Amino acid sequence: MARGWVRDYYAAKLKELVERGEIWEIRRLMGPTGPRAVVEGREFIMLSTNNYLNLANDPRLKRAAIEAIEKYGWGPGAVWAIAGYPELMAELERKVAEFKRTEAALVFPTGYATNVGSIPAIVDQGDIIVSDELNHGSIIDGIRLSRAEKIIYKHCDLADLEDKLRQVHKKYNKILIITDGVFSMDGDIAPLDGITKLADEFNAMVYVDDAHGEGVLGEGRGSPAHYGVEDKVDFHMGTFSKALGSTGGMIGSDRDIIEYIRNRARSWLLSTGFPPAVVAANIKALEIVMTEKERIRKLWENREYFKKGLDELGFNTGKSQTPIIPAIIGDTKKTRELAKMLYDMGIFVVPIVYPMVARGTERIRNEVSAGHTKEDLDRALSAYEKAGRSLGII
Ligand SMILES: *Cc1c(COP(=O)(O)O)cnc(C)c1O
Repeated sequence: MARGWVRDYYAAKLKELVERGEIWEIRRLMGPTGPRAVVEGREFIMLSTNNYLNLANDPRLKRAAIEAIEKYGWGPGAVWAIAGYPELMAELERKVAEFKRTEAALVFPTGYATNVGSIPAIVDQGDIIVSDELNHGSIIDGIRLSRAEKIIYKHCDLADLEDKLRQVHKKYNKILIITDGVFSMDGDIAPLDGITKLADEFNAMVYVDDAHGEGVLGEGRGSPAHYGVEDKVDFHMGTFSKALGSTGGMIGSDRDIIEYIRNRARSWLLSTGFPPAVVAANIKALEIVMTEKERIRKLWENREYFKKGLDELGFNTGKSQTPIIPAIIGDTKKTRELAKMLYDMGIFVVPIVYPMVARGTERIRNEVSAGHTKEDLDRALSAYEKAGRSLGII
């Protein structure tokens, strides 16, 4: 048991969080996650997962995992560097490299671990990181763990990026521009064409975290492919946890760079990798994403349909260009009320409020998948209409 004063201290801290409304109410899933999911005993239309291609419960991933469990058992034993790789890992790394169209690739326990491990491995004292202001928290943590300096540019603003590059040009050993490929709260796409051009001009390196772009943009290849600039991105980071329906992180680059990161990334060296079953499922997921273009087409058809529906109802979907479609409310209380009404009507959404997004941009973030039916989307839109009217939002 914790000491009395320790317990009291954190009880008071927790109370502050409760009072500020910064506590997550975590729901109980009672079966697989999918376009529909059973939560707390009721069936919901799921609009809050990154399961874009509906692969999280795909029978082929499950079968690959089960076969791997039978052959390799469950646990990995120790960190991969010490205990050894499951033999399937060489194939997974090859598949990632094929997917990212890079010479080589490295797989991490999670996407978070990929960023917090790779960024400090790539840059050092005397370097500077130039980072989009809305980059994912795992990038921010990776930057904090590195010994490089950082400078932030305005969200997707090429003029400001150029300005910042001009300021730091020739003052540091190396410059690393880091950006999300697709931004997770607004669903907008980083202007990688302009960013890579500026990188050429200022001799900078480019690192793209494509967690929400993979499987979605560029025929599934991601945001660099969407712009045709795959060759101008030095570090292709991604995750298996979104469109690929699994778990684990990845980074693709040239062979020597990958071997260097492998030997320097502390989150790879000091944290045990996922079980062999996950290696097998991830191989299968990549194969599906690289071949089943129909899923991606369906995802986009659903995305267009749902975005148009919300727009026509009068909701503010902001700058969405992808299957991430926010309904921006701009008020914490109203956002929470709307989320609760939708939830009560069987639509699984959660309020996204400060500090996850800036004050005044509180929202519900909808994420559409290839597995939703038109009926699912219509039901969700009609719930939005009812709740939006009753709260005076539309
Ligand atoms: C989800 C996400 C991550 C973290 O990936 P995990 O595999 O869930 O750890 C990293 N970067 C971005 C942009 C993300 O959206």
